Amino acid sequence: MTKPSMPNEYPSASFARDVPEPAPTALLDDLRRAGLACETSSEVRSDHGRDWWPLSIADVAVGRVPHWPGVVVLPRSVDEVSELLRVASAHRMPVTAQGGRSGVLGGAVAPDGAIALDLTQLDKVLSLDEVSGHVRVQAGVFGPELETYLNARGWTVGHFPQSFDLATVGGWIACRGAGQLSNRYGKIEDIVRALTIVLANGDVIDVGSHAPRQAVGPDLMSLFVGSEGTLGVIVEATLVARRQARFEQRAAYGFPSFEEGLEACRRILQRDASPAVLRLYDETETQRNFELDTCALIVLDEGEESFVHATMHIVVEECANATVLDEALVERWMAHRNDVGALAPLWERGIVVDTIEVSGSWANLPAMYNHVVDALKSMQGMLVASVHQSHAYVDGACLYFTFAARPEEDATPFYRRAWDLATRAVLANGGALSHHHGVGRNRARFVENALGSSFAILVAMKAELDPFNILNPGVLGIGGAPW
Ligand SMILES: Cc1cc2nc3c(=O)[nH]c(=O)nc-3n(C[C@H](O)[C@H](O)[C@H](O)COP(=O)(O)OP(=O)(O)OC[C@H]3O[C@@H](n4cnc5c(N)ncnc54)[C@H](O)[C@@H]3O)c2cc1C
Repeated sequence: MTKPSMPNEYPSASFARDVPEPAPTALLDDLRRAGLACETSSEVRSDHGRDWWPLSIADVAVGRVPHWPGVVVLPRSVDEVSELLRVASAHRMPVTAQGGRSGVLGGAVAPDGAIALDLTQLDKVLSLDEVSGHVRVQAGVFGPELETYLNARGWTVGHFPQSFDLATVGGWIACRGAGQLSNRYGKIEDIVRALTIVLANGDVIDVGSHAPRQAVGPDLMSLFVGSEGTLGVIVEATLVARRQARFEQRAAYGFPSFEEGLEACRRILQRDASPAVLRLYDETETQRNFELDTCALIVLDEGEESFVHATMHIVVEECANATVLDEALVERWMAHRNDVGALAPLWERGIVVDTIEVSGSWANLPAMYNHVVDALKSMQGMLVASVHQSHAYVDGACLYFTFAARPEEDATPFYRRAWDLATRAVLANGGALSHHHGVGRNRARFVENALGSSFAILVAMKAELDPFNILNPGVLGIGGAPW
């Protein structure tokens, strides 16, 4: 079993005093009577009261527990998850599903007094259909375990988020995530075929199908992809696996401006070339990552040799006016692509830092890029606001902004305003609120505006599936924003 890796640790002896009471005895008795493993120690509860949201990191650095769940429950089977939700329903007690707790928006933080449902004991790869390429897996399996199992048999699911080592399959699906090679392998919604879900009342349902597609009414499985623990608990998933790639090719280019690089990406995608990696960095991020004065585009494709050659041929043609850079830049990116250690030390030094990933159409991206960066740079104390393009489509792309500041005011209101300004600029330019991190608590206040007239459908689905509002209340902005 892999234990979640957290960004920082509480200073020692943080909880000598002021530890809130655990969950009520009547609830604990019922949970234990149902045979569930429960933890109520201050160490385990405080650990499950935080995730990778930067404000959690800031709290932990000064020994403050963001939230104190009343109890941490670690089920070992689907039946135990079902039992847990029956008991929680009877007690009207909120439950937050937790995988690796690598969420960066506060969505995996169990509220004060609530049940933290740690799914990491559901850690088995169950089966591989080597004819169809379907792998059945429990929700608490981490990326490395899944890929080790598959690679040993010549397969991969190709889902490699930067948080590959930190996150679980259930979390990938619950957050509607995207891996770094997603232009080739698809986003998680392209990879998932079927799910087993435990509903708030403890009922176990299957959604999706082991057939490649179905036209049997609306796609009910997609309700749960991106539902962030608010509509049901994902306990098992069937994912599409691919044969491991046998061939790979790399290239790197420099563009005089980010906009010109975006244009090249658009032309490449619109000629139906979709290299696994097509990442474009602005001047600031190119300097930070590669010490070069340009906007670097790094390209990597893998798969069947003839397809890779065809794809890279189009890349070469569309980058004909760019400067050819050393393809060793791609190796450099590969070597550091899963480094995750930078965030916490910066917060501990008083730097307010975060990333904001969004998406937009090619027509809107240049204006969105400029407006977001300008809005962030207009803030007193902002040190840097930069961007890269990380996932490209035939009609648009994901922009991934990074900001860092040393504000004169308190960090929290500054941080909140930075998000307000950037999000306003994204939505005003027709962008999507999030491309792959999701909503959590941090973005909950924007969801009603972002979804517009369809927000009522989300609220209605929640009321139907979770009438007592016990599943991760406050997340996704349903019933108001907690922050
Ligand atoms: C350094 C870093 C880099 C990252 N890079 C990427 C990236 O490249 N691509 C990307 O997509 N994301 C990225 N993320 C964000 C995060 O890793 C993903 O959202 C990930 O999918 C979360 O998985 P988890 O198991 O850690 O879920 P958690 O953080 O534990 O939970 C996240 C949300 O999902 C819900 N949830 C978790 N498991 C279940 C379940 N089984 N059933 C129902 N709900 C559940 C939780 O309630 C919560 O709302 C990154 C995060 C970090 C810290």
